[in-house]
This record gives sequence, structure tokens and C-alpha cells, in this order.
Amino acid sequence: MFNSLQGRSVIVTGSGRGIGRGIARRFGAVGCRLLVVSRTRSEAERVAAEITAGGGTARAFAADVLRAADMAAMAQAAIEAYGGIDILCANAGIFPAAKLGSMTEADFDAVIGTNLKGTFLAVSACLPAMKSRKAGRIILTSSITGPVTGYPGWSHYGASKAGQLGFMRTAALELAPFNITVNSVLPGNIATEGLAGLGADYVRSMEASVPLGRLGSVTDIANAALFFATDEAAYITGQSLIIDGGQVLPESLAALDEMRSGS
Ligand code: NAP
Repeated sequence: MFNSLQGRSVIVTGSGRGIGRGIARRFGAVGCRLLVVSRTRSEAERVAAEITAGGGTARAFAADVLRAADMAAMAQAAIEAYGGIDILCANAGIFPAAKLGSMTEADFDAVIGTNLKGTFLAVSACLPAMKSRKAGRIILTSSITGPVTGYPGWSHYGASKAGQLGFMRTAALELAPFNITVNSVLPGNIATEGLAGLGADYVRSMEASVPLGRLGSVTDIANAALFFATDEAAYITGQSLIIDGGQVLPESLAALDEMRSGS
């Protein structure tokens, strides 16, 4: 149905675990050549080994999205290994909770820095290679939190994730003349190591608020990211896709109850 992505060179930041790992494995399974990037080298190496064991092509690269020099080295590593960069999935992100009143300046800077500035630095590092070939796909991992919803404890996180969409829209305009598209996936609550870290109560309450009745899987998000990278999505840019099992649809708890009543 879709043209093959075989051989495409793909960088996925934050792919040592969680959603990024799912994205890297999904692209690896369709024959892309992966650079698996996270700060923890051993985790990136484990994911690269998983992809290689499945018959794919992958290398691990340890880098911090907060460091411009690391991002430049990351782009260079992909160019040296695979001859260029076709696709960047800017996925690395953190979500420590802190409510206003106790949130410190350092808390705010860490979240905005990793999630928003990290997106800018990863994208900027990959642009020269994409522009020189007049082709590229950039897929950001945003969230429903911020662009669509709010959640106590995550004002900094929501700002960073909404900020990614503001970044995306202007980047998509600036990069259109270079045939580079920029789109975003907006996950709802996805079963990852990071989400599990928020505790069993949080996970249970989230499961209860999803109309489709389950948390998302990393593959649910990876499939959407993969779509944005296909030739068939070539005319889509500056757009965001919510993948949340319908979580943002009910206008009230009563709407969810009514849905469950089945009548
Ligand atoms: P996760 O399980 O905690 O994984 C995060 C990944 O990002 C790890 O590989 C981590 O590795 C890497 N990372 C963190 N800071 C980094 C940095 N400064 N430089 C490079 N890599 C870094 O998180 P996740 O749940 O998969 O979340 C991934 C993305 O999805 C984030 O952008 C998050 O906001 C978004 N998201 C997640 C959910 C969800 O329900 N899970 C929902 C909406 C959006 P190291 O620590 O080793 O660097």
C-alpha cells in the first residue's frame, strides 16, 4: 500500500526507552537505518542491538539534546554511517511534576530546556544535511498536555509541548522551500517506563479516562510517526495528530459514564 522506506536514514532522539524506542524499532522493522540516541549509552546500545537482532540496521549514539555540540556530533554520526539524514524524530523529553508555588526556576528551565530547546537544537543540527539534499522529514513528539489539555503539576511541561507546536508551524513554513516537512505526534497516555514512574494510581486513573479502555502502546505512536515519514504523506506539513484512544473527546465525566452505560 505504501512505498517502501527501506534504507532511509533515521535519527530518533530519546530512543533508549519508551516511545522513542518504539519509534526506532518500528522504523527499523521497515528497513530504515537507525541512529538510536539517548544520554544513557547502554540503553541506546540495547535498542540498537534489538533492531539489529531483528535483521535491521542500527547504531547507538550517546548525546544530550541540551548540548548543541552533541547534536552536531549526532548529525555527523548519521551522515558518516548512512550518507545523510532523511528523517529526524525529535522525541526526547522529560515530565517531572511540580505545582506552581513549589516549582523552582531550575525545574522550569530543565523541562523547557529539554523539551523545547532540545527540539530546536536537534532540528537545527540536522537541517544542513536535509537542505543540501532538498528532502527531509521532521517529526516532533509533543503531547495532548499543553496543546489540548492541562494537568496540575505540568504547567512547565504543557508550555514546552504547546511550544513545540508553535515552533513546528514556523519551521514548516521556513523549510517548505527545501522540501522538508515538519509534523507532530501528540500522544495521550502511553505505557512507557517514564509513565510507569508516575505511579500505579496515576496509571489506573488514566486507563479509566480513555474511551478505548486502555493506555496507548509505543507502537500506536510509532505507527503515526511512520505515516508522517512516508512518501504518501509528502503533502502534509505543519500538522499535528492526536493519538490518545479518544481521551480528549468526552466533555465531562458524565459523558464518559453515559458512554459506558451503553444505552
Ligand atoms: P521515557 O520513557 O522517560 O523516555 C525518554 C527518553 O528520552 C529516554 O531514552 C531518555 O534517555 C531520553 N532523554 C531524556 N532527556 C534527554 C536528553 N536531555 N537528551 C537526550 N535524550 C534524553 O519517556 P517517554 O514516555 O517515552 O516520552 C518520550 C516523549 O514522549 C517525550 O517527549 C514525552 O514528553 C512524550 N510524551 C509521552 C507520553 C507518555 O504517556 N509516555 C505522553 C505524551 C507525550 P536518557 O535519560 O538516557 O537520556
